[in-house]
Amino acid sequence: MPTGKTIGVTSATALIALLAATIGLPVLTVSGLFDRPELGFGPAGAGLEGVPPVAAEAYQRAAAAAPSFSPPCSIPPSLLAGVGEVESGHGTHGGATASGNGDVRPPIIGIPLPQLGDDTDGGRWDGSSTVDHAVGPMQFIPSTWRAYGADGNDDGAADPHNLYDAALAAAGYLCASGSPMATESDWRRGLWAYNHSEAYADDVLEAARRYEAADTSPTSGSGDVQLVDVEGVGPTNAAWAHQVRSLLAAAAAEGVPLTGSSYRDPAEQIALRRAHCGTSHYAIYEMPSSQCSPPTARPGTSQHEQGLAIDFDACSTRSTACWSWLNANAIRFGLHPLSSEPWHWSIDGN
Ligand SMILES: [Zn+2]
Repeated sequence: MPTGKTIGVTSATALIALLAATIGLPVLTVSGLFDRPELGFGPAGAGLEGVPPVAAEAYQRAAAAAPSFSPPCSIPPSLLAGVGEVESGHGTHGGATASGNGDVRPPIIGIPLPQLGDDTDGGRWDGSSTVDHAVGPMQFIPSTWRAYGADGNDDGAADPHNLYDAALAAAGYLCASGSPMATESDWRRGLWAYNHSEAYADDVLEAARRYEAADTSPTSGSGDVQLVDVEGVGPTNAAWAHQVRSLLAAAAAEGVPLTGSSYRDPAEQIALRRAHCGTSHYAIYEMPSSQCSPPTARPGTSQHEQGLAIDFDACSTRSTACWSWLNANAIRFGLHPLSSEPWHWSIDGN
């Protein structure tokens, strides 16, 4: 259900509160901080089934710009879609529709918000010169838009009633509090800034997961392991696929393209133990990892068997660019090192 009006009230209240706390953040102003791909970027609608096509592209374009934010951010399009769904039904609240350039008409304008104090926009965005209203598909209040508004469709204007602009501004606003937006706790931190309501975050995350699920084509691993294919590392655990994608994108954006391998089925782990540890039952199943060359986890104990570890190809020593980048950045994406193997990074350091 599009809840633009009711959400707008709490959202705007939260925005004002946060705005006071975040003025001076160097991250976001209106103009040209973002490197953006041309309109038409990316596989339109992938993973955003049911989202109107212009909105889907707006979310994807905004998400694609986030790695260029300062600091780099990796907000997923599905999370922006979750916000857009809850705020305004992707710009369809009240029967509104979007044109190809992203303009939403009729404009979506929430209820008056006298608790915010005096009007701040002279009616430019909300049509009222006496009081502010939350506006547009992402329900920005005008004073917040002044600080965070962005031009997402490269037409030279930042308009909260435009889906591309509003989506990019929302990405910036969420990233300002939740960067790097790689894990659920990051997402909740960002959403809390957007709207101080756990129920709101739950609604957005429920929607985001629905879109994310549509984006993944699970291949089944052994047992209960749900795998998805991530370009560069192959099948990996669906539960952390976003973190991995975010990390790979951030590394590539900084000139350190990374590849590797993640999931290993139990038979492969046994084969590795044979090769690295010996062929006896003891060697395969019981010998401590550290006595193998190279060290190799006992079958059933490797995070590779859960798809929750990655061996990076170019990380054989700590003097590689691969290792240096991971050492400085992987923690932001929830990947931890294994001290005995510079190439091996996992969800928990095992
Ligand atoms: Zn490994």
